Amino acid sequence: MDYYSSKIQSLIEELAKLPGVGQKSAQRLAFHLVNLPLEAVEKLADTILEARRGVRYCQKCCTLTDAELCPICSSPSRDASTIMVVENPRDLAAYEKTGQYEGLYHVLHGAISPALGIGPADIRLKELMQRLQTEDIAEVIIATNSSLEGETTAMYISKLIKPTGIKVTRIASGVPVGGDLEYIDEVTLLRALEGRVEL
Ligand code: ZN
Repeated sequence: MDYYSSKIQSLIEELAKLPGVGQKSAQRLAFHLVNLPLEAVEKLADTILEARRGVRYCQKCCTLTDAELCPICSSPSRDASTIMVVENPRDLAAYEKTGQYEGLYHVLHGAISPALGIGPADIRLKELMQRLQTEDIAEVIIATNSSLEGETTAMYISKLIKPTGIKVTRIASGVPVGGDLEYIDEVTLLRALEGRVEL
Protein backbone atom coordinates (compact mmCIF):
# COMPACT_ATOMS: atom_id res chain seq x y z
CA MET A 1 0.00 0.00 0.00
CA ASP A 2 2.98 2.37 0.36
CA TYR A 3 3.20 4.09 -2.99
CA TYR A 4 5.14 7.02 -1.61
CA SER A 5 8.34 7.43 0.37
CA SER A 6 7.70 7.00 4.08
CA LYS A 7 8.44 10.69 4.70
CA ILE A 8 5.75 11.80 2.27
CA GLN A 9 3.45 9.14 3.67
CA SER A 10 3.79 10.47 7.21
CA LEU A 11 3.27 14.05 5.98
CA ILE A 12 0.02 12.92 4.32
CA GLU A 13 -1.04 11.22 7.56
CA GLU A 14 -0.39 14.35 9.65
CA LEU A 15 -2.24 16.60 7.20
CA ALA A 16 -5.20 14.21 7.07
CA LYS A 17 -5.64 14.72 10.85
CA LEU A 18 -6.61 18.36 10.23
CA PRO A 19 -10.34 19.17 10.28
CA GLY A 20 -11.95 19.13 6.86
CA VAL A 21 -8.92 17.55 5.20
CA GLY A 22 -9.61 14.14 3.70
CA GLN A 23 -7.10 11.67 2.26
CA LYS A 24 -7.23 13.19 -1.21
CA SER A 25 -6.73 16.77 -0.03
CA ALA A 26 -3.95 15.60 2.27
CA GLN A 27 -2.13 14.04 -0.68
CA ARG A 28 -2.58 17.15 -2.78
CA LEU A 29 -1.29 19.37 0.04
CA ALA A 30 1.65 17.08 0.75
CA PHE A 31 2.82 17.12 -2.86
CA HIS A 32 2.30 20.86 -3.04
CA LEU A 33 4.43 21.33 0.09
CA VAL A 34 7.34 19.13 -0.99
CA ASN A 35 7.48 20.98 -4.31
CA LEU A 36 7.67 24.42 -2.70
CA PRO A 37 11.02 26.23 -2.28
CA LEU A 38 12.55 25.29 1.07
CA GLU A 39 12.27 28.91 2.39
CA ALA A 40 8.53 28.94 1.75
CA VAL A 41 8.06 25.73 3.74
CA GLU A 42 10.26 27.05 6.54
CA LYS A 43 8.18 30.21 6.73
CA LEU A 44 4.94 28.21 6.89
CA ALA A 45 6.32 25.90 9.59
CA ASP A 46 7.61 28.89 11.62
CA THR A 47 4.29 30.70 11.34
CA ILE A 48 2.43 27.65 12.63
CA LEU A 49 4.88 27.26 15.53
CA GLU A 50 4.75 30.97 16.39
CA ALA A 51 0.95 30.96 16.41
CA ARG A 52 0.83 27.88 18.57
CA ARG A 53 3.45 29.08 21.06
CA GLY A 54 2.16 32.64 21.29
CA VAL A 55 -1.48 31.87 21.82
CA ARG A 56 -3.20 31.90 25.20
CA TYR A 57 -6.62 32.43 26.79
CA CYS A 58 -7.76 35.97 27.55
CA GLN A 59 -7.84 36.32 31.35
CA LYS A 60 -11.31 37.78 31.18
CA CYS A 61 -13.33 36.29 28.32
CA CYS A 62 -11.21 33.16 27.64
CA THR A 63 -10.96 33.74 23.91
CA LEU A 64 -7.66 32.95 22.21
CA THR A 65 -5.29 35.87 22.18
CA ASP A 66 -1.58 36.65 22.43
CA ALA A 67 -1.80 39.11 25.31
CA GLU A 68 -3.09 38.97 28.89
CA LEU A 69 -6.33 40.58 27.76
CA CYS A 70 -7.77 40.30 24.26
CA PRO A 71 -8.31 43.49 22.18
CA ILE A 72 -12.06 43.43 22.92
CA CYS A 73 -11.72 43.14 26.71
CA SER A 74 -9.06 45.85 26.79
CA SER A 75 -11.02 48.29 24.60
CA PRO A 76 -12.48 51.22 26.59
CA SER A 77 -15.20 51.78 23.99
CA ARG A 78 -16.97 48.47 24.60
CA ASP A 79 -20.05 48.22 26.82
CA ALA A 80 -18.63 46.30 29.77
CA SER A 81 -22.06 45.68 31.33
CA THR A 82 -23.12 43.17 28.67
CA ILE A 83 -21.59 39.74 28.13
CA MET A 84 -22.43 37.53 25.16
CA VAL A 85 -21.72 33.85 25.82
CA VAL A 86 -20.53 31.91 22.78
CA GLU A 87 -19.22 28.39 22.28
CA ASN A 88 -15.93 29.17 20.52
CA PRO A 89 -13.72 31.97 19.19
CA ARG A 90 -15.13 31.46 15.68
CA ASP A 91 -18.60 32.40 16.93
CA LEU A 92 -17.11 35.50 18.54
CA ALA A 93 -15.51 36.38 15.20
CA ALA A 94 -18.88 35.93 13.43
CA TYR A 95 -20.55 38.47 15.75
CA GLU A 96 -17.60 40.84 15.51
CA LYS A 97 -17.91 40.79 11.74
CA THR A 98 -21.38 42.33 12.01
CA GLY A 99 -19.75 45.37 13.62
CA GLN A 100 -22.96 46.01 15.57
CA TYR A 101 -22.39 44.34 18.90
CA GLU A 102 -20.75 46.64 21.44
CA GLY A 103 -20.59 44.46 24.53
CA LEU A 104 -18.04 41.95 25.75
CA TYR A 105 -17.95 38.17 25.24
CA HIS A 106 -17.34 35.00 27.15
CA VAL A 107 -16.02 32.00 25.23
CA LEU A 108 -16.98 28.61 26.70
CA HIS A 109 -14.75 26.49 24.42
CA GLY A 110 -17.43 23.88 23.92
CA ALA A 111 -20.94 23.00 24.99
CA ILE A 112 -22.41 20.61 27.52
CA SER A 113 -23.03 17.21 25.93
CA PRO A 114 -24.05 14.32 28.17
CA ALA A 115 -23.81 12.01 25.12
CA LEU A 116 -20.13 12.88 24.62
CA GLY A 117 -19.42 13.01 28.35
CA ILE A 118 -18.81 16.78 28.32
CA GLY A 119 -20.09 18.26 31.55
CA PRO A 120 -20.29 21.83 32.93
CA ALA A 121 -16.81 21.49 34.44
CA ASP A 122 -15.31 20.77 31.02
CA ILE A 123 -16.18 24.18 29.55
CA ARG A 124 -15.23 27.68 30.76
CA LEU A 125 -18.34 28.11 32.86
CA LYS A 126 -16.68 28.62 36.23
CA GLU A 127 -14.79 31.56 34.71
CA LEU A 128 -18.09 33.09 33.58
CA MET A 129 -19.62 32.81 37.04
CA GLN A 130 -16.53 34.41 38.54
CA ARG A 131 -16.89 37.34 36.16
CA LEU A 132 -20.50 37.82 37.20
CA GLN A 133 -19.34 38.18 40.81
CA THR A 134 -16.50 40.60 40.15
CA GLU A 135 -17.73 42.66 37.19
CA ASP A 136 -20.75 44.96 37.06
CA ILE A 137 -22.92 43.04 34.60
CA ALA A 138 -26.47 44.05 33.61
CA GLU A 139 -27.19 41.42 30.95
CA VAL A 140 -25.88 38.04 29.84
CA ILE A 141 -26.83 37.13 26.27
CA ILE A 142 -26.60 33.40 25.65
CA ALA A 143 -25.58 32.86 22.02
CA THR A 144 -24.70 29.18 22.05
CA ASN A 145 -25.69 27.21 18.92
CA SER A 146 -29.24 25.99 18.47
CA SER A 147 -28.05 22.37 18.49
CA LEU A 148 -29.10 20.03 21.31
CA GLU A 149 -25.78 20.73 23.06
CA GLY A 150 -26.15 24.48 22.61
CA GLU A 151 -29.69 24.47 24.01
CA THR A 152 -28.70 22.24 26.93
CA THR A 153 -25.87 24.65 27.73
CA ALA A 154 -28.16 27.68 27.46
CA MET A 155 -30.68 26.16 29.89
CA TYR A 156 -27.94 25.19 32.31
CA ILE A 157 -26.38 28.65 32.30
CA SER A 158 -29.69 30.46 32.66
CA LYS A 159 -30.55 28.35 35.72
CA LEU A 160 -27.18 29.20 37.25
CA ILE A 161 -27.49 32.93 36.63
CA LYS A 162 -31.19 33.42 37.46
CA PRO A 163 -30.69 33.53 41.26
CA THR A 164 -28.15 36.36 40.89
CA GLY A 165 -30.85 38.68 39.51
CA ILE A 166 -28.78 39.48 36.41
CA LYS A 167 -30.89 39.65 33.23
CA VAL A 168 -30.40 36.53 31.06
CA THR A 169 -31.44 36.53 27.42
CA ARG A 170 -31.23 33.98 24.60
CA ILE A 171 -30.69 34.93 20.97
CA ALA A 172 -33.77 34.36 18.79
CA SER A 173 -34.12 30.99 17.08
CA GLY A 174 -33.71 32.50 13.62
CA VAL A 175 -30.46 30.60 13.65
CA PRO A 176 -30.94 27.27 11.83
CA VAL A 177 -31.01 24.23 14.10
CA GLY A 178 -27.59 22.65 14.39
CA GLY A 179 -26.11 25.50 12.38
CA ASP A 180 -22.71 26.67 13.43
CA LEU A 181 -22.86 30.40 14.13
CA GLU A 182 -19.84 31.08 11.96
CA TYR A 183 -21.63 29.93 8.81
CA ILE A 184 -24.63 32.16 9.29
CA ASP A 185 -24.79 35.46 7.44
CA GLU A 186 -24.51 38.74 9.31
CA VAL A 187 -28.11 39.81 8.77
CA THR A 188 -29.41 36.59 10.32
CA LEU A 189 -27.01 36.99 13.25
CA LEU A 190 -28.13 40.56 13.89
CA ARG A 191 -31.78 39.56 13.68
CA ALA A 192 -31.14 36.77 16.17
CA LEU A 193 -29.42 39.24 18.49
CA GLU A 194 -32.10 41.92 18.21
CA GLY A 195 -34.90 39.39 18.67
CA ARG A 196 -33.40 37.91 21.83
CA VAL A 197 -35.83 36.94 24.55
CA GLU A 198 -35.49 37.00 28.31
CA LEU A 199 -35.16 33.56 29.91
ZN1 ZN B 1 -11.10 38.94 26.29
